Amino acid sequence: MAKFVLIGSGLAGGLLAAYLGRRGYEVALYERRADPREGNMVGGRSINLALSTRGIHALEQIGIADEVLKHAIPMRGRMIHPAGAEARTIFAPYDVDPNKHINSIGRAALNTTVIEAAQRYPNVHVKFNHKCTGVDIDSPTAQLLNTSTSQPLSASADSIIGVDGAFSAVRQSMQLKIGNFEYDESYLAHGYKELTIPPGPNGGWRMEKEALHIWPRKSFMMIALPNPDGSFTCTLFWEFEGPRSFATTKTDDDVRRFFEEEFPDAVPLMPNLVDDFKNNPTGSLVTIRCAPWFYKDKVALVGDAAHAVVPFYGQGMNAAFEDCVVLDECLAGFPEDRQRAFAEYFQRRKANADALADLALENFIEMRDKTASRTFRAKKKLDHFLEAALPGIYMPLYTMVTFTRIPYATAAHRARIQDALVYAGLIVAMILLLALAIRLLR
Ligand SMILES: Cc1cc2nc3c(=O)[nH]c(=O)nc-3n(C[C@H](O)[C@H](O)[C@H](O)COP(=O)(O)OP(=O)(O)OC[C@H]3O[C@@H](n4cnc5c(N)ncnc54)[C@H](O)[C@@H]3O)c2cc1C
Repeated sequence: MAKFVLIGSGLAGGLLAAYLGRRGYEVALYERRADPREGNMVGGRSINLALSTRGIHALEQIGIADEVLKHAIPMRGRMIHPAGAEARTIFAPYDVDPNKHINSIGRAALNTTVIEAAQRYPNVHVKFNHKCTGVDIDSPTAQLLNTSTSQPLSASADSIIGVDGAFSAVRQSMQLKIGNFEYDESYLAHGYKELTIPPGPNGGWRMEKEALHIWPRKSFMMIALPNPDGSFTCTLFWEFEGPRSFATTKTDDDVRRFFEEEFPDAVPLMPNLVDDFKNNPTGSLVTIRCAPWFYKDKVALVGDAAHAVVPFYGQGMNAAFEDCVVLDECLAGFPEDRQRAFAEYFQRRKANADALADLALENFIEMRDKTASRTFRAKKKLDHFLEAALPGIYMPLYTMVTFTRIPYATAAHRARIQDALVYAGLIVAMILLLALAIRLLR
């Protein structure tokens, strides 16, 4: 059986190791960080994530979906917090079917679960505190540094898979070696900062528990996802620079004033606001597109290493998990020809990853601006009405992306056609109504 070296045991790395382990491959997984079970989890990354159908399907295939969902909190819709101290919250369900929900799940717990799933296979070996510093893609061999002992070492395999996230060292080595490697990275003008709403006095949730809370403020927004311990993790997405921005908000008073003006209902729930704001890092939001995602039968990229997207569709991890399913299917389809399997995997995933990148960028505008408008909410109601009236024929884009496994590119294409038909239908209906009114007036 072939030997794989995987670089990165984040969300996709752990899951992919489990898939490869199940197929009987020898797998060595190297992670630069310490074991997440030792509690040193990922500073600066989102503490919780929205897990939905694609991700759940990938976990089901390896038999760990129930284990993961045990710790999840269902979020049945968006709870909009309009601007203004007196404004009332508005709940907008995600789907016409009240049973359809996304799941708030802790990154650390999920990461631990996928790593443990991989370690159930005796042919999978996980080594923490091993940082990859480069890959010789022809041999292929990964150069590593044991960060506990400062000892360099190398690991050779039949194939090396980069599951090492948006700033992948494996991808950088491919970029250096492959002449026509396409690479594009683009950053938003917005950064993000995580803040906390602690549990209430009795350990309960101080806002509606089963919702994704959004404070849309046109050019920026805050969101909050519930955690099992009664707390919420809030994320402020805000401009790095500008008259009102992370750059200009320096003193404790600046922070308090900004939050009291923009999120007055949240401030009383955030006793550690100023400290959180000062101490937590400000993350950047990057979209990365590259091609190809493989080199011969020797190297391949999976997850954020191949296609980092901004987080506004809640799909980055779900897509990374879907990559694992597809790569596993391709390896099963061409067991004697890994180059063909990698090529097939790339061909099946690339257009979908590109479509998701676009959808995620568009959804930022929807979340931070449109969710506050009546027109948007009316369109959502119309979507749900049409979905109920035309089951299997009309499906809102959000439903296709979040609650089905329809490929992202197909979903985006289908939504464009549906929208065109709906708008055309509305125009025809208005013309008919106008004609009828004129006739009645005569
Ligand atoms: C604020 C925010 C919110 C998000 N919310 C959601 C959400 O709600 N739903 C969703 O589906 N997605 C969400 N995402 C996206 C999601 O976090 C990523 O898509 C997902 O983590 C990708 O998994 P991955 O395994 O490819 O990469 P990662 O999770 O980044 O894992 C990469 C791993 O590789 C390791 N590594 C990196 N470099 C090296 C090296 N040189 N040597 C060895 N190891 C290395 C890292 O330490 C890490 O453990 C969000 C992202 C952000 C930033």
